[in-house]
Amino acid sequence: MSHVRKPDWLKTRPPAGERFTEIKQSLRERDLHTVCEEANCPNMGECWSGRDGPGTATFMLMGDRCSRGCNFCDVETGGMDPLDEDEPADVADAVVDIGLDYVVLTSVDRDDLPDQGAGHFAETIREIKARDPSVLVECLVPDFQGEERLVRKILDTGPDVFAHNVETVERLQWPIRDRRASYEQSLSVLRQAHRESDVYTKTSLMLGVGEYAHEIYQTLSDLREVGVDVVTFGQYLQPSRSHLEVSEYVHPDAFDIWQRVAEEEFDFAYCASGPMVRSSYRAGELFVEAVHD
Ligand code: SF4
Ligand code: SF4
Repeated sequence: MSHVRKPDWLKTRPPAGERFTEIKQSLRERDLHTVCEEANCPNMGECWSGRDGPGTATFMLMGDRCSRGCNFCDVETGGMDPLDEDEPADVADAVVDIGLDYVVLTSVDRDDLPDQGAGHFAETIREIKARDPSVLVECLVPDFQGEERLVRKILDTGPDVFAHNVETVERLQWPIRDRRASYEQSLSVLRQAHRESDVYTKTSLMLGVGEYAHEIYQTLSDLREVGVDVVTFGQYLQPSRSHLEVSEYVHPDAFDIWQRVAEEEFDFAYCASGPMVRSSYRAGELFVEAVHD
């Protein structure tokens, strides 16, 4: 596959703003790290400050090494860290002290642990809700190999949004995701969350990895079928030369079209879609808007 040149619309400005600086400082004081910063996410200014509603920040739990190796992801594989037992309380303290209204918790996959990290994840949600039940929590969880009892552990803590990413259309799952993941397994996790609780369910797809329009349509249809409420689309960017190549830089107008298709034809509660959109992009503001509509 030939190398595709990066278009101008992917150029970004460095984040700024009073709230941004304040949050950054508080995180440094606590020696806590967000996905936003580690990934140098271009949306930090917008997400942390919250343009029209609650600001959003994303925390990664259970270390920075993953038991899986997906072809698009920059996280290191193997050599798993032991769990930090204080992490649930430390993250909860930080969320409350910094005054975040909406927090996204995500994690690496921990297939190495007997409960795949579900207990630790659940504990973090519980600690946040115990300190301040008004903090909205979105959990962006692994597939837990489709084990329903582990998904239930998360649902039982009462998160506000339950997110799990299908990442791409069905045909491309295996060149792109680790072989332990699958389209059907991811759909079954989302189906269970919808069936067993009132939680908002959410998923994300990267565009520009070789998918066709009819496959995106089919995915949207499959997602609605299992009860997913929210979908996001963002451009895949190659983290390094050893990762999957970008097959196309999708034009911003095409992202707008997918947003309309998702919201108007498929009736998703909302769809965030744009070249720089990531699954947690302005999640707090968009969630509150959708819930209050
Ligand atoms: Fe990255 Fe998630 Fe895949 Fe792990 S499971 S390699 S964190 S995308
Ligand atoms: Fe953080 Fe997600 Fe927003 Fe990026 S899109 S700044 S990772 S909350």
